[in-house]
Amino acid sequence: MAEPITRTGWGFDAHRFGGDGHIVLCGVEMDDDRGIEATSDGDVAVHALIDALLGAVGIGDLGTYFHPEDPEMHGVDSMQLLRKVLVLVENRSYRPGNVDVTIISESVRVAPHHEAMRAVLAEALGVEVGAVSVKATTTDGMGAIGNDEGIAAAAVAVVYRSP
Ligand SMILES: [Zn+2]
Repeated sequence: MAEPITRTGWGFDAHRFGGDGHIVLCGVEMDDDRGIEATSDGDVAVHALIDALLGAVGIGDLGTYFHPEDPEMHGVDSMQLLRKVLVLVENRSYRPGNVDVTIISESVRVAPHHEAMRAVLAEALGVEVGAVSVKATTTDGMGAIGNDEGIAAAAVAVVYRSP
């Protein structure tokens, strides 16, 4: 059976607030210095997107390629990880199509950075800005995210088989 031309993947990630520095989402610094507890810069949106891309191609997840114990992972820019993953995707003869990222937080203000986030992701993915959707929602005060203990993100990615 021939491999399908289009494949879809889904990813999810969550991290607690804590530590130093600004919260980074989709490679863009938010006006929020509550920090994220993570080995990397804790960009949940990019981590979810990475898992969506790897899932679309069927080649594992973030943890397959990057290990928290690796000293090189300390404070690493997650956009750098995304670029490495895109090489893996290309090596399997796929390229990204459209992506849809949803950031789930009770209080992080995403709206002011919405267009910058789309532009940064589009550039990294090599797609039009119109192919990148970044959405934000809350859990209506319910659960850990609703209690503002941290932030989560989900992402869907379509990949096309390269000719
Ligand atoms: Zn993560």
